[in-house]
Amino acid sequence: MSYESWGRNNSIARVARTPDRLTPDILAGGSFLAYGNGRSYGDSCHNSGGRLIDMRGANRILSFDEVSGVMTCEAGTLLSDVLEHAIPRGFFLPVTPGTRYVTVGGAIANDVHGKNHHVRGTFGAHVDSLHLLRSDRGLLTCSPTENNDLFAATIGGMGLTGLITRARIRLMRVGSADVRQRTLRFDGIDDYFARCAEFDDMHEYAVAWIDQMARGRKFGRGLLLGADHPSDKSPASRPASKPLLSVPFVPPVNLVNRVTLKVFNELFFRKERTGEQWRKVSWQSYFYPLDSIGHWNRLYGPRGLLQHQSVYPEMNGHDTTVRLMECAQVHGHASFLTVLKRFGAYRSPGLLSFPRPGFTLTLDFANQGAETVRLLDALDDIVISAGGAVNPYKDARMSAATFEASFPGWRELEAHRDPAMMSDFWKRTAMVLPRQSTRPAMAAAAV
Ligand SMILES: Cc1cc2nc3c(=O)[nH]c(=O)nc-3n(C[C@H](O)[C@H](O)[C@H](O)COP(=O)(O)OP(=O)(O)OC[C@H]3O[C@@H](n4cnc5c(N)ncnc54)[C@H](O)[C@@H]3O)c2cc1C
Repeated sequence: MSYESWGRNNSIARVARTPDRLTPDILAGGSFLAYGNGRSYGDSCHNSGGRLIDMRGANRILSFDEVSGVMTCEAGTLLSDVLEHAIPRGFFLPVTPGTRYVTVGGAIANDVHGKNHHVRGTFGAHVDSLHLLRSDRGLLTCSPTENNDLFAATIGGMGLTGLITRARIRLMRVGSADVRQRTLRFDGIDDYFARCAEFDDMHEYAVAWIDQMARGRKFGRGLLLGADHPSDKSPASRPASKPLLSVPFVPPVNLVNRVTLKVFNELFFRKERTGEQWRKVSWQSYFYPLDSIGHWNRLYGPRGLLQHQSVYPEMNGHDTTVRLMECAQVHGHASFLTVLKRFGAYRSPGLLSFPRPGFTLTLDFANQGAETVRLLDALDDIVISAGGAVNPYKDARMSAATFEASFPGWRELEAHRDPAMMSDFWKRTAMVLPRQSTRPAMAAAAV
């Protein structure tokens, strides 16, 4: 069994336990971390100094109320299995990331977001309660009214507060899982900023794809995609049981390079006619286009990929987006999938949740070693100076200082950490920072 993260940029052998039963003794003697389905991009799902607990065996749906849409399931259940159960009964996930091959435990631990953050917030906002197994306190029920501090710390807590063994989640009733999609082709970044608020106001889902390689007058051109589930009942399309295509092995070189990307971006942009289009789209194509190619991350070759996702305030959203994209161009790096979205003001119940009001830009780069790390460091500087944050579960290299500037409240999570839990990400960021905040002292010195 291989325990990689999606970026595949640190392929070392990892030790894991796949327990038959989730009892406190599995957390005895050493350090541990839950492993969901490895769809995090960097090292937040790794624990090189200790063991991983492979949660995928705990994947039963325990109950589903077909009136309220409340489901109780084990934490290793994949969102694809939740959907398979829910869609024929007229329900859909209230929040979904861009892949359905994510476990419920992983979705809670990273408090994932989707294309409807402006309407429904994060995954954690739809969790009624969860069971948490800790090395020091045994099995606890956590909810907004019971062990509420641990509940908040566990949502977005990156697996550090213990093992989530099961969760009770609220699904969303829909007429059909398929959507009616509105596509607007825009010719430059100013056009996106002129129209994005209107798309958020009108649609359940709204997100933009940007051609990051376009320059000059075409800089920031792209497609703005709004979508809604129809309210009248209609059967949803059936998913293929397996991806239609799969990348069978890791090629010796990166195939996602400037030449292939330029061609891909041009075709992707031109496949839409100028102006607006409306069409019905299957839920698989709208929410999970990348799931149709199995192991697509292998196309990046032996060194894998590095993703950079940031969020920054709305006030300077336009300028920060332009600076980030120009920075990537100046460093000579092309991003395969560049996604721009406006987060809403919906507050997550999670202590260390990533989304906050403002714009979020996601860039995917082939890992070209030190050059790529230099670019990502430069992107971090732009984000932090704009008052923003860098996403930890997409990251494999941010500095401790960038982490602290992104999440000044991290010490509260550290106070709730299960002493037996550790991740490579936490070790290289939080664990090298002073345990006491130096902020008040600095403020006093300034006075
Ligand atoms: C193609 C693609 C698209 C994506 N799109 C989005 C997106 O739109 N929005 C978004 O937010 N994210 C997105 N992601 C990231 C992905 O949704 C998250 O990283 C998700 O949390 C991964 O879940 P996982 O089950 O694979 O868990 P892993 O990646 O294995 O683990 C994630 C974290 O959860 C912890 N964890 C897992 N299970 C448990 C448990 N039972 N108890 C306690 N802790 C646990 C782990 O310790 C780790 O810290 C995308 C990823 C891919 C590959």
